[in-house]
Amino acid sequence: MRHTNIAVIGGGLSGITFAHFAAKSGKSVIILEKQPFPGGAIHTSAPYSGSDFFVELGAHTIYSSYGTLLEMIEDTGIKGNIIPHLKPGYLMYEKGGIVSLFSCVSFAGLAATLFRFPFYKKTGLTVKDYYTKVFGVKNYENLIHPMTSAVICQDSANVAADLLLKSRKKDKSYPRAFSLSGGLQPFLEKVASGNGISLHTSVSVSSIEQNDGKYIIRTGGGEYLSDSIALAADAFASAGLIDCWRDAPDRIKKLAERLKELPVKKSVAFGLSAPADSFKIQPFGYIIAKDSPFRAVVSRDVIKDELYRGATFHFKPESDPSVYSGTVHDILKINREQPINTETIEFTLPELRVTHAEWRREVESLSDVKNFYLLGNFFGGLSLEDCAIRAKHEAKRAAGE
Ligand SMILES: Cc1cc2nc3c(=O)[nH]c(=O)nc-3n(C[C@H](O)[C@H](O)[C@H](O)COP(=O)(O)OP(=O)(O)OC[C@H]3O[C@@H](n4cnc5c(N)ncnc54)[C@H](O)[C@@H]3O)c2cc1C
Repeated sequence: MRHTNIAVIGGGLSGITFAHFAAKSGKSVIILEKQPFPGGAIHTSAPYSGSDFFVELGAHTIYSSYGTLLEMIEDTGIKGNIIPHLKPGYLMYEKGGIVSLFSCVSFAGLAATLFRFPFYKKTGLTVKDYYTKVFGVKNYENLIHPMTSAVICQDSANVAADLLLKSRKKDKSYPRAFSLSGGLQPFLEKVASGNGISLHTSVSVSSIEQNDGKYIIRTGGGEYLSDSIALAADAFASAGLIDCWRDAPDRIKKLAERLKELPVKKSVAFGLSAPADSFKIQPFGYIIAKDSPFRAVVSRDVIKDELYRGATFHFKPESDPSVYSGTVHDILKINREQPINTETIEFTLPELRVTHAEWRREVESLSDVKNFYLLGNFFGGLSLEDCAIRAKHEAKRAAGE
């Protein structure tokens, strides 16, 4: 049976960040990932062999305010791989047509409410309540609601306002928004190949157990023995593993019950690419959609490529898959006869409501157990940096700092 200091279950950004910082402190770490590749909600599609063109189906942008990710980029020596994003502009899709974002702003609504802006606090308010107060009803409905829903790939109305669009200190030595050459998934692979880390893919963990203070981790293909465990799967999968853990401590069993209460939302990513001259739409950065089967189109035009263009449509989970192909051809003005490369993935994301702060406090307290670590996008927020902050915090705890 293979022995390690820490076994990490889940090879998404959270698990790999945790592994990076734990290994940096001298621990040996094994990451067990059920998919054939690491990434989770980071999924890079590279459809043309011999080309460095890629399309991101999941997370797509790193910002200069993502300090923990910047630290990992420096640690892995790949700062030279940064590709700053161009700014080809944001658009709005409504009533079956594309318009400018500017045309959706009600200046009368802004004039009536904006002067009160400094007096409103986000804490305790939903996105709907906070932004209606700040920008007025019309601006909320026509612009802010579709925009914030596009950012988190789910209806934002009931989400806690302070967990979205956070302002963080920027590191001015980095471009404001950027990708890495090859995409974000190869970046994770690079981090996971660091000293002290061993990544095992296509390994689905089915149960965990504790014996003589050591963890026994069972998978379809064998067992692993570790001193500590870090659960870095989604909340429901982590709860399922705890449910299978015979004689789990009572507080951990209680933790599993809390994890199962977390509301989640699904979103379908439909990525596509084709030769550049197939697209008749002008280059654009992002399309926000209102009252449509999709919430957003994330364009690959933020990085120049002479040969190919691409985009990812984020469809609502209830939308009919038979409309995907026709919708993307029409919106991107691609001839319907033109073949395109496509890839579809369904993602699940937590819905972080106003009550989340209380839930989070309890989950943090219940999971604060020696040799046990809990990671994911259900602590301070959904963003890559929120996941990385939690992961680094837990890695420091593992290092005894
Ligand atoms: C479409 C989309 C776009 C986004 N865009 C951005 C963006 O541009 N910028 C940004 O900051 N954030 C973005 N986010 C948010 C961010 O990408 C996610 O919150 C973050 O990547 C989640 O990482 P994670 O490791 O916590 O979870 P996940 O990525 O879900 O990883 C969990 C991993 O655990 C594995 N797993 C589950 N069960 C088991 C098991 N039993 N055994 C082994 N492995 C298991 C899964 O296969 C998965 O790989 C986006 C999210 C989505 C869905």
